[in-house]
Amino acid sequence: MSQEVISRNQIDNRLRRQVYQHFIDTGRAPTVLDLATKLDLTAEDIKRSCQRLSEQQSLLVKPGGCDIWMAMPFSGAPTPHRVKIGDKEWYAVSAWDALGIPVMMKSDALIQTVCGDCGRPLEIEISRNKVAESSHLFHFAVPVRDWWDNILYTSSTMSLFDSDAHISNWCSKHGVEKGVVMTLSDGWKFALAWFEDRLDPDWRWRSSGEIREIFASLGLTDEFWRMT
Ligand SMILES: [Zn+2]
Repeated sequence: MSQEVISRNQIDNRLRRQVYQHFIDTGRAPTVLDLATKLDLTAEDIKRSCQRLSEQQSLLVKPGGCDIWMAMPFSGAPTPHRVKIGDKEWYAVSAWDALGIPVMMKSDALIQTVCGDCGRPLEIEISRNKVAESSHLFHFAVPVRDWWDNILYTSSTMSLFDSDAHISNWCSKHGVEKGVVMTLSDGWKFALAWFEDRLDPDWRWRSSGEIREIFASLGLTDEFWRMT
């Protein structure tokens, strides 16, 4: 690997971590100026790094600019998925991503979302690294091999429902083939495996093999979870 690529990767890694830290500290997405100031880099360096990470879909920038819009699980724009920890609050990209915020922060949390079908308000309580039992169900509509075709579309379909009947109802109303239904506690285990190490200093985007290992460790081995 050339020195140039190494230093580019280092910048991207520092930037990604600072984006998360800014979300955690302030509850909102950082601007290019926020990042340039904090990382002691030029705005051009920040924009190029944001562009690279955006192309990998590690984060998304606002249309027409380079300010951060989303860094999964955090959303800088309002969504129906709020995560409350103490007196702070964040928006999550999806109902399932909302679990990633207390996982990353290793905190108790209250998540407020809505049933993907009927819009009924639903709450999820996280306490002592466990999710409070409930009959709510996650639905994953997009097979894994298509997740990164458009991560925003994929995330927008990772919803929570108050019943299996409402998942079926939503799929039939919107012409979406029913995907994988997961209990809340299995969704929590999945979020733990996915987000637990996201703030580690040497975290990097996982290879296909590493992602497959995570799925296998959770028993997610059927066609839906295949990478290709
Ligand atoms: Zn419902």
